[in-house]
Amino acid sequence: MLAGELRLHGVHALVLEKEVEPTRVVRALGLHARSIEVMDQRGLLERFLALGQQYPVGGFFAGIVKPAPDRLDTAHPYVLSIPQTTTERLLTEHATELGVEIRRGCELVGLSQGDHGVSVELADGARLRARYLVGCDGGRSTVRKLLGIGFPGEPSRVETLLGEVEVAVPQETLDAVVTEVRKTQKRFGVMPLADGLYRVVVPADGVAEDRTAPPTLEEVKGQLRVVAGTDFGVHSPRWLSRFGDATRLAERYRVGRVLLAGDAAHIHPPTGGQGLNLGIQDAFNLGWKLAAEVDGWAPVGLLDSYHTERRPVAADVLDNTRAQMELLSLEPGAQAVRRLVSELLDFQEVNRYLVEKITAIGVRYDFGEGHELLGRRMRDVGLKRGRLYGLMHGGRGLLLDQTGRLSVAGWADRIDHIVDVVDDAAELDLTAALLRPDGHVAWVGEDQQDLLRALPRWFGAAVS
Ligand SMILES: Cc1cc2nc3c(=O)[nH]c(=O)nc-3n(C[C@H](O)[C@H](O)[C@H](O)COP(=O)(O)OP(=O)(O)OC[C@H]3O[C@@H](n4cnc5c(N)ncnc54)[C@H](O)[C@@H]3O)c2cc1C
Repeated sequence: MLAGELRLHGVHALVLEKEVEPTRVVRALGLHARSIEVMDQRGLLERFLALGQQYPVGGFFAGIVKPAPDRLDTAHPYVLSIPQTTTERLLTEHATELGVEIRRGCELVGLSQGDHGVSVELADGARLRARYLVGCDGGRSTVRKLLGIGFPGEPSRVETLLGEVEVAVPQETLDAVVTEVRKTQKRFGVMPLADGLYRVVVPADGVAEDRTAPPTLEEVKGQLRVVAGTDFGVHSPRWLSRFGDATRLAERYRVGRVLLAGDAAHIHPPTGGQGLNLGIQDAFNLGWKLAAEVDGWAPVGLLDSYHTERRPVAADVLDNTRAQMELLSLEPGAQAVRRLVSELLDFQEVNRYLVEKITAIGVRYDFGEGHELLGRRMRDVGLKRGRLYGLMHGGRGLLLDQTGRLSVAGWADRIDHIVDVVDDAAELDLTAALLRPDGHVAWVGEDQQDLLRALPRWFGAAVS
């Protein structure tokens, strides 16, 4: 995602990946509304919709199933079920089409940086130089460790086994057992996939010392018998894996010319399905800022705003996953709180609040006082000439001007000036708005002088 964003601005981006082949292990199962919007803003949504399935929003806060709240503030009020392996393939294709070079079998083992660039060392001894480096290398990030960035938080207390297997019992038998066990144990499931395969999820016995070592089929069967009273005759695993509930946040997202994004910066339990979404949105926030820095027009502080804006969002996700994990506990007190939260979710505004949190459409960066949309991403709206998001594929800033009197002269190389009116004024109650390349609202108003004061903060100096 990040490499694609950089290429949109003409920045040369090289991706180093230590694995020779893409993994078969499917972790994330879907995209939430904000990530779906992100794909729409870059013209990628059709590819995702063609390979995913749309489900109603609701049921992802600690697995408490409730109907979606009315009139969710997005043009995409659904969850898009799509395996992480497919998401990674589609983003790889997108990046490659834009000219990103992806080198597999390249493990970063060392780095050093100076005033003008970063040097990295690969496992085979090769050295590379770049102006910037972003560690998108997962929860065990080598880049984060080499930078010496602290990763405080809690270690795993519980562990869960996961895999894709075949089963040897009829569907009805399976459904009956799964329904019964899930009444209390929400960390358990056996879910049908395509081609006779099932995704099995079951609590492990304790926490493994080395979580990189996959469990054996016998371990999975044993835990199924403990938790469900039967192992469903599971056999022929395609892959098996394990994950914990460690919750940690990097102290800094940037040291000089090296930055962190995705799981390298934050890890938390998968409850609510947010980790991959959070990483995509990190990349969406960082891409244009880093490109602006490389291209030489970034105003002072723009690149640092990546840390300032994104770290609190991750801290909030960590907290909601901590809360969800408590609600999944089988302890009587936790179960009572779960019942109470379930009742509270019957209030539309409570339900909406949590849905906006998990889907990330409620994220608001602190741009100071002002219009209620300031700092928030603008939802897609219909314009006379088409949909707003359809005008954002190039990753540039955008001035949506319903007055026709404003100007971005001096910034036209970075900002598209769209003079148009929204189809439905009820959808968008403002005269003009300046959107950053990530769709967040940087300014709302109608006064040219006021706009001229806002432009340099995000888009640097005017050029004549
Ligand atoms: C069971 C499970 C279910 C989940 N479900 C969801 C979900 O439904 N929704 C959701 O949003 N999230 C979910 N997640 C979280 C999601 O999988 C992660 O947040 C996501 O994979 C993070 O992406 P990333 O690119 O930051 O890191 P990773 O996916 O870990 O990718 C890091 C990459 O860096 C490579 N690498 C590592 N070190 C080096 C090195 N030194 N040199 C070169 N390459 C290196 C690795 O090989 C890897 O390919 C789930 C996670 C788990 C475990």
